Amino acid sequence: MFERIERVPGDAILGLIEAFKKDTNPQKVDLGVGVYRDDNGNTPVMRAVKEAETRLLKSETTKTYIGSHGAPAYGDAVLPLVLGADSPVLEADRASATQSPGGTGALRLAADFIAKQLPGKGIWVSDPTWPNHHGIFTAAGIELHKYPYVDADNRLDFDGMLAAIKKIPDGDVVVLHACCHNPTGFDLSAEQWQTVLDVVRERNLLPLIDFAYQGFGQGLDEDAYGVRLFAEQLDEVIITSSCSKNFGIYCERTGCLIAVAKDAEQKDNIRSQFAIVARENYSNPPAHGSAIVSEILHDAELSAMWRDELTEMRDRVNTLRRDFVEALKPYGLDKKYACVGEQRGMFSYTGLTPDQVERLRDEFGIYMVRSGRANVAGFSQQNLPYLARAIAVVND
Ligand code: PLP
Repeated sequence: MFERIERVPGDAILGLIEAFKKDTNPQKVDLGVGVYRDDNGNTPVMRAVKEAETRLLKSETTKTYIGSHGAPAYGDAVLPLVLGADSPVLEADRASATQSPGGTGALRLAADFIAKQLPGKGIWVSDPTWPNHHGIFTAAGIELHKYPYVDADNRLDFDGMLAAIKKIPDGDVVVLHACCHNPTGFDLSAEQWQTVLDVVRERNLLPLIDFAYQGFGQGLDEDAYGVRLFAEQLDEVIITSSCSKNFGIYCERTGCLIAVAKDAEQKDNIRSQFAIVARENYSNPPAHGSAIVSEILHDAELSAMWRDELTEMRDRVNTLRRDFVEALKPYGLDKKYACVGEQRGMFSYTGLTPDQVERLRDEFGIYMVRSGRANVAGFSQQNLPYLARAIAVVND
């Protein structure tokens, strides 16, 4: 039977990583991968995480299953982080947390829940979006549709987005990125969030907010603006949160599926369904990552340490964004690439064309995906002058 199985091409990003490794150019730059990098190109373990792990090693007494919803202490820590410490939603007992294997796992749980409990409902994602959204939702059997997000001049196409959302059929699901939109870096303003909320309410849509980069844009609370607005003003919201980036625990697979419902009873009903989809997928989530997160968030000293480290990462990325635009000034290209300074998070739709991306790779050893999406954390004070000169050459 295996004779008939066709091989599919590997992930484009993995191909890029391989090509980068083989490149012998000493000045080569990797702007492709989707993880945070420090100025030396490393993705280190955060100090607060190391300290939490040291404590856990001493205090751990069992490795028994933690249950389909995961560790209660983790849910208790993540809900106020996402919804706010004084959230009226938490006060009203309208939100539940189900631990998941990363943000990806939360999205898959949400997808299975939607496919089972809201049969026939379509799902709408931004064009472009994180490519795995397509895979996850279609794998669950949900019909996928797109709404525009970026215009031909590489700007947020808010009018196009809104016009499309206004036409989404009643009851369908609309996926929104809470902050640090991947791949573009274009986020909604407070006013735009409110406008989208009004349409969501009017069209009776179910918002699914993907929150994979809390703390990477403008701050832990600032980045949660849209999430909290929706949770407080609407009866029903699904949120998928990830600790991969903000705790730097990518391989520990730590995320959370949050349901916000009209009241405690409906919240508990939905929560019971989440346990079923979790059980059908993997039974119980892994324990270690969630133990790290709750150890940190339930301890004032570790929490403060973690917040400082996260601020360092965020400030580094935002400074590099500004410095990138500054480095292009001598070439008269600062206005053309000003968007990079305005976008948020790790990723940037630079506006570089596929031809320019190819030339950057072939002539300068600068690697990024064909769409012109760059991982800003791959910039450094050392490589910015080289990057700026290379971009000037391919713009000539
Ligand atoms: N959602 C978006 C928009 C992402 O960019 C990512 C990761 O790149 C995820 C979800 C999933 O994150 P995790 O690594 O926690 O599964």
